[in-house]
Amino acid sequence: MNNKLYGNLIFELSKPGRKGYSLTKTDYAYHISDLPESLLRKKDAELPECDELTVVRHYTNLSHDNFGVNDGFYPLGSCTMKYNPVINEEIAAMKELACLHPMQPDYSCQMALIVYYDLQKALAEITGLSEFTLNPCAGAHGELTGLMVIRAYHESRQDSKRTKVLIPDSAHGTNPASAAVCGMEVIEVKSLEDGTVDVSHLKELIALHGEEIAAMMMTNPNTLGIFEKNIPEIAVLIHECGGLMYYDGANLNPMLGKARPGDMGFDVLHINLHKTFSTPHGGGGPGSGPVGVREGLEKFLPTPRVVVNKENNNFLTVEYGDNEDSLGSIGNFFGNFGVIIKAYCYILSLGKENIKKVGPLSVLNANYIKESLKDLYELPIEGICKHEFVFDGLKDKSTGVTTMDIAKRLLDYGYHAPTIYFPLLFHESMMIEPTESESKETIDEFIKVMRTIAQEAKENPELVKTAPHTTPIGRVDDVLAAKQPVLTYQRMKKIEL
Ligand SMILES: *Cc1c(COP(=O)(O)O)cnc(C)c1O
Repeated sequence: MNNKLYGNLIFELSKPGRKGYSLTKTDYAYHISDLPESLLRKKDAELPECDELTVVRHYTNLSHDNFGVNDGFYPLGSCTMKYNPVINEEIAAMKELACLHPMQPDYSCQMALIVYYDLQKALAEITGLSEFTLNPCAGAHGELTGLMVIRAYHESRQDSKRTKVLIPDSAHGTNPASAAVCGMEVIEVKSLEDGTVDVSHLKELIALHGEEIAAMMMTNPNTLGIFEKNIPEIAVLIHECGGLMYYDGANLNPMLGKARPGDMGFDVLHINLHKTFSTPHGGGGPGSGPVGVREGLEKFLPTPRVVVNKENNNFLTVEYGDNEDSLGSIGNFFGNFGVIIKAYCYILSLGKENIKKVGPLSVLNANYIKESLKDLYELPIEGICKHEFVFDGLKDKSTGVTTMDIAKRLLDYGYHAPTIYFPLLFHESMMIEPTESESKETIDEFIKVMRTIAQEAKENPELVKTAPHTTPIGRVDDVLAAKQPVLTYQRMKKIEL
């Protein structure tokens, strides 16, 4: 857009004294001029002063610069940026649900408690575990809660020296972080060439630390999109040494309808409702990280809990924690109820039959892209992947074009970039996850663009290395932005001086 008002900060559009509203003076409303001197700030707060239309245009234009799943293909691996059906949003926004208060008496919100209780049960059935709490507000929060359950379990057996957690080197960064926050020590387990856990290294670690092992945390499919085939053996090894098996189910979509962590020998897991069960995420938006446990661990789950009162007509009630073994509160009341409603709608609208198609479709889409591009892009781990896979940059290394350049060039073609430089196992990682919600046409178009970029890298590497060319902002200096963030107008003015 070629308009000189566009691209400014709202502060730069400000004109002293200009207002976006007009209010008549009434007997009932205070005006700034009515406030006693002692309550006024000495210095004016530096707020922008603009007319309403300028404000509306400013934010509308900014929103056009944004990119989301509703704008285009978003193959950001490990994040499952799938489509979130609008009906879920509409239902979650219904005032009967959105205006509930967490301290309402049970009898006045039975519908909400049913949603809560039924979702717990549905997740238990989907994962093969016994009981769920929906209280944690994010994946990492679920990990912490799950690890606290594990610690409480060991402590209840007078086995509190178990403070070590085994975590594969391919794990998502939140796994070791959560273990550390829980006061546990992280022990890294190596991966094999094929991307799966090195069981012989695991055996060495068990021999060394056996009596102190609290748990093994695994992600399956792991962050390389590879199914961990040795889970039954690993589960036996960990259980024999007295530890528990933790499953990071942030991205459960490839599993839906095909395999259940509970059946594989896992004891505790978390799921990201905001990845697998259709809530938009990114930018720190509301999340939900329910935690499930196998039979015998239920009593450690946090409160409040929604339970059925069998003596009273199956009336649902909220238990706040008479139970001594419970972790107690781990956050605000019941977690993010809006996200819980969306997950519930999503599961019910798919139904038992269709939820079984999610896993196979997400796997098919990922394999289709991988196979269609592996002649031009380096595929470090051959074979069938699950819902995502990793390229290690272009196959032709002579062009000098990096994964960063390709990611930037994709923006010119109207795509969000894949996850790049993660996992850390390769130098030029490019992690692609199409999700189950994309059509064959969209995926074919993406493949075509990826092939075009590979061609450009050969014929005109400068074009790719200087991308993006068509976005509102060109290539940014990531390092400078991270080292010298300018997040306020005041700071910007100082720097300009
Ligand atoms: C996203 C993710 C997490 C963390 O979830 P948050 O909601 O961002 O805290 C953990 N593990 C894996 C594998 C993930 O993809």
